[in-house]
Amino acid sequence: MIQRTFSIIKPDAVKSGNTGAILAEIEKGGFKIVSIRKQSISKKEAEGFYAVHAAKGFFDSLTTFMSSGPLVLMVLEKDNAIADLRKLMGATNPANAEEGTIRKKFAESLEHNAIHGSDAPETAAFEIGYWFAGYELI
Ligand code: ATP
Ligand code: MG
Repeated sequence: MIQRTFSIIKPDAVKSGNTGAILAEIEKGGFKIVSIRKQSISKKEAEGFYAVHAAKGFFDSLTTFMSSGPLVLMVLEKDNAIADLRKLMGATNPANAEEGTIRKKFAESLEHNAIHGSDAPETAAFEIGYWFAGYELI
């Protein structure tokens, strides 16, 4: 089933000059880039995006990091996009990520882990709507 997912190239990967290399991995993985935007986000915007993690000990550090510099917001499309992107990304902690995954290649640490991808259809719908307007997704 053709499906859309939401992804972010996180500030660590943008800063280290890996935006293009990560986009190449995504395209090689068969994803179509439906919409893409480079921007910086505020701490408040990061807190709204990661609201599901508000009670976690790493919430303040995570949202400070996500608002620390430019990132790249994307809507991606392919058959089985949500699960396939998570597979291409690799484990949250790059120390546990499989060989050949984006996090294995480009992530620095558990927090500075290069890329975000939605984890379920409901979260993908929320995350796409949080960052993109309908007219940007035609
Ligand atoms: P993402 O949501 O960014 O795609 P994920 O779904 O693999 O990552 P989550 O459990 O949703 O992982 O955590 C969100 C982000 O919070 C992680 O990508 C990571 O950067 C950070 N994070 C998760 N656990 C920790 C932790 N124990 N300490 C510090 N940061 C963490
Ligand atoms: Mg997550």
